[in-house]
This record gives sequence, C-alpha cells and structure tokens, in this order.
Amino acid sequence: MKWSGRRNSENFEDRRGMSSGGKTIIGGGIIGIVILLLNVFGGENAQMLTPILEQMNQGNSAPTEQRALTAAEIEEGKFIEAILVDTEDVWGKIFQENNMQYERPNLVLFTDSYETGCGSATSASGPFYCPADQKVYMDLSFFEELKTKFGAQGGDFATAYVIAHEIGHHVQTLLGTSTKMRQMQEGKSQAQANKLSVALELQADFYAGVWTHYNQKMNNFLEEGDIDEALSAAHAVGDDAIQAKIQGHIVPESFTHGTSAQRKAWFMKGYKSGDINQGDTFAEIR
Ligand SMILES: [Zn+2]
Repeated sequence: MKWSGRRNSENFEDRRGMSSGGKTIIGGGIIGIVILLLNVFGGENAQMLTPILEQMNQGNSAPTEQRALTAAEIEEGKFIEAILVDTEDVWGKIFQENNMQYERPNLVLFTDSYETGCGSATSASGPFYCPADQKVYMDLSFFEELKTKFGAQGGDFATAYVIAHEIGHHVQTLLGTSTKMRQMQEGKSQAQANKLSVALELQADFYAGVWTHYNQKMNNFLEEGDIDEALSAAHAVGDDAIQAKIQGHIVPESFTHGTSAQRKAWFMKGYKSGDINQGDTFAEIR
C-alpha cells in the first residue's frame, strides 16, 4: 500500500505511551470476541450501554503516566494517520456526490487501556467505533494478534481494511442506519437481533470495499497482494472462523458479524462496484 506524502489530520489522536487505570469493559468491534457480559453488544451497539458503563466507571480514574514513543511507533502512527486521511477524503467526496456533508470522526490510538465515550477500552477490546463520541479506538497490538491468534496473513492493507470497516460504522451512524438497526432489534428474539447485527457488520465491510475502490481511483494506492491481505483479515474475523478456533464448534444463530465467506464477499462487492447503493445487507432479513 502506497501512503507516503499524505497531509496530516487534525482528527488523529495519538495517546500511546499514556496509561491510566481502568476496567476491561468493551467487547470487540471488528471481531465477535467477548469480554464479560458484552457478547451481544459489539462496536456500535455499545452506545446503549453507556449509562451502565458510566456507573461502573465511577471513581475509576487512576493517575496517568507517559513515555516517549519509539521511532517505529512514530512511523506506525504516521501510517495510521494516512489511512484516516484517505477515509476523510474518500467519504468527503462520496457524501458530496450525494449532496450531504461528511462529518469526520476522530481516530484514537492507545496502549493498555483508555477511557472512551463507550466506557473503558483495553487492548483486548479490539478496534471499535464508539457512536457516543464518534471516535474509532485502536490498540495496535490487535494487528499482531490478528496474525498470531486468528491466522491472518497480516500486512499493511489488513490494517487499512480494519480501519475502513470501523469508519464504515461511522458512516452508518451519520446515515442513521445504526439507529434504525437498533430500533429494528427491539422486541426481537436474540437470534433475530443477531441477524440484524450481522447485516450491519457486513455493510461496514462493504463500505470498506467502497472506500478501497474510491481510494484507488483518487490515490492509486494499491500494491500487489493488498486485496489478498484484506481478504485474509476478513476471513480471520469471520464468526465461523473465530468460533471454530475458540470453542471448536460453530453456532450460526449466535453470529453477530457474519461468516468469513460473507465478510469477504461484501468487501469485494464494495470494492468492485464502488457504489454505496449496492450495499443493502439488510435486504435478506427484511
Ligand atoms: Zn464492526
């Protein structure tokens, strides 16, 4: 992936090297890995938990320490910032083409743990988008785990895919899709609510593909093997792949993010079409 020479983003927050005490609360955004009671509430659904999290977090602010970043970490930060900039430019253009205004979300890098608008995040949370403060949060150690724990091939474009997926949730928030989906979940069985969650997640994958399509046109940024890196990451974070790895068997009703095949297919559909109107992942369950 070619990314050098990008402008800076005022929406990039590098909080690495700062650590503060906090409880592990948030469940994974791009993955269905569960922490505590939050298995049902990945990523964007975390909003409804905010009041509970606030209660749990009361009196929980430990002193903050800071250390200097290494040269490698600084370079890594520049790379992440460049991806954020590319999402700003692409979605700014797509929204403009549709007579809308894109509101840029922040992207926060942290290490260890961090207080977010959706409660405390830790490195175990995985990258996620918090609709309450409209920020994407990431501890970069996730990308190492993506390779070692989940068997993805890794690479810079795996990271780009994950960020583009989380930004996709921001787009859904701006378009009102996330709110609509939560309303649709009300009063539904768990299995039905999970299907809606899967549709939302697959659409975020689709948007990641659309972003790739546009960014290729605007910045000619893809290099040999990049799409394979995204597909490998999408495969690794499929519910079936994760469940097979972690519990040894697969329970489709409990899927919240979609199978590996679905995630890859929707990413590719977005990438090939570049048409945001072709991303109705809810059609099948309506
Ligand atoms: Zn997601």
